[in-house]
Amino acid sequence: MTNEAVYNVIGIGIGPFNLGLAALSHPISELKTLFLDQRDGFDWHPGLMIDHVTLQTPFLCDCVSMADPTNPLSLLNYLKETGRLYKFFIREDFFIPRKEYNRYCQWVIEQLPQCRFSTQVVDITYEEGLYHVTTIQTKTKETTVFKTERLILGTGTQPYIPSFIPKDDSRVIHTSSYLYRKDELLSQGKKIAIIGSGQSSAEVFYDLLQNRNEETHLGWYSRPDRFFPMEYSKLTLELTSPDYVEYFYNRSESARKTILSKQQAQFKGINYDLINDIYDFIYDLNIDNADPNLKIIPNSQLNRVDYSNPDFISLEFTQLEQEVPYDQEADYLILGTGYRYHEPAFLKNIQDRIKRDSSGLFDVNRNYSIDHNAGEIYVLHAEVHTHSYISTDLGMAAYRNSYIINDILGREHYKIEKKIAFQDFDVEKYADLPTAKI
Ligand SMILES: Cc1cc2nc3c(=O)[nH]c(=O)nc-3n(C[C@H](O)[C@H](O)[C@H](O)COP(=O)(O)OP(=O)(O)OC[C@H]3O[C@@H](n4cnc5c(N)ncnc54)[C@H](O)[C@@H]3O)c2cc1C
Repeated sequence: MTNEAVYNVIGIGIGPFNLGLAALSHPISELKTLFLDQRDGFDWHPGLMIDHVTLQTPFLCDCVSMADPTNPLSLLNYLKETGRLYKFFIREDFFIPRKEYNRYCQWVIEQLPQCRFSTQVVDITYEEGLYHVTTIQTKTKETTVFKTERLILGTGTQPYIPSFIPKDDSRVIHTSSYLYRKDELLSQGKKIAIIGSGQSSAEVFYDLLQNRNEETHLGWYSRPDRFFPMEYSKLTLELTSPDYVEYFYNRSESARKTILSKQQAQFKGINYDLINDIYDFIYDLNIDNADPNLKIIPNSQLNRVDYSNPDFISLEFTQLEQEVPYDQEADYLILGTGYRYHEPAFLKNIQDRIKRDSSGLFDVNRNYSIDHNAGEIYVLHAEVHTHSYISTDLGMAAYRNSYIINDILGREHYKIEKKIAFQDFDVEKYADLPTAKI
């Protein structure tokens, strides 16, 4: 079936980023939009919705506030509408529970009829000046083609499992599936190895630590030389700013790669309080010098996983500073190995419209578009290599969405901040020096 309506914008994927775009485009009557998602409803990272975890970004990172604090789809209005605003006021904490953020996003969706779920995009073609988006209704299997002038790709990132780890052994679990397997993990006396030094690994380690029975043995292994905190000092937070996007975008392809490789601690560490909570919990376990029945090992690279023995998995590590290999055994291996962007397969028939850089990645224009005409196909969360790690940050989503909406409208509908940082990043802007690129 072909839907004869022509949309100005079709957003594919309704994660927080496209949801923000749907919310911010909602009041603009001249924009006819449709947002599609293959899932049956919004549910934010359900496999990691551990009790008591909070957002890592202040609540103002909701769908609309940083673009338009008066928009009724703000988190504050959600709290008002649901009778929770005073409780939030008394709680005095900018960092809301992830469960509450999830519920808030579901409330936003209830008010946006242009968001359609159970609709998987399987193909896109370009015909007579329009993108034809083929979808399958996942329950009825009905096929529908929608036509649009522009696409916004918001399909998110996928759990990453290193290639040397076979994916078909049920004893290997990515942190994104943790809660689905938690009961099994906590069954009597299991040996559990957790790999990774990021926030998800730490959350899983702490949750298991609090809920395990006495016989459960936990091992936590990290490649970096320490379990380092995510940097959260204010001058570092200025790297999450419009000024910094501008600076980063204008560096060369190779300079950007170098910059990203140095920004591990800024975006990849563990919440500072969580590290301390973990330490304090273990301290309590160790009163009277009791054995806490766990291992925490930095500086360790996992090189190989051997599944040949049905009774246990054998893990082969190297202690990187000492350059000494060592083995460990486990019943389960939990991988906190992060997420990667995969280009959606539905782009295969419009490849000729997409710009590529020398590495074959999307050559993303400053306005977040990736097509040769610089205004037809926009990406959200697929532009770390051109717009920096800010691309992954909920706090900057409203900025990016404002930028895209203004670009589509050809006018500044949403006011966009250009300089918010006290520090200056670009020598060409702050010094009267001969032009010099890094
Ligand atoms: C556990 C966790 C906690 C995080 N917490 C924070 C935080 O506190 N602060 C912060 O700034 N960042 C955080 N992040 C990072 C980031 O904000 C989130 O990953 C966020 O969900 C990214 O949103 P997204 O819209 O890009 O994608 P996603 O949330 O992954 O959504 C993508 C959607 O696209 C849909 N889709 C994919 N393919 C198709 C298709 N072919 N057809 C239709 N639909 C499709 C999927 O079903 C999915 O619903 C967190 C990440 C994780 C994993």
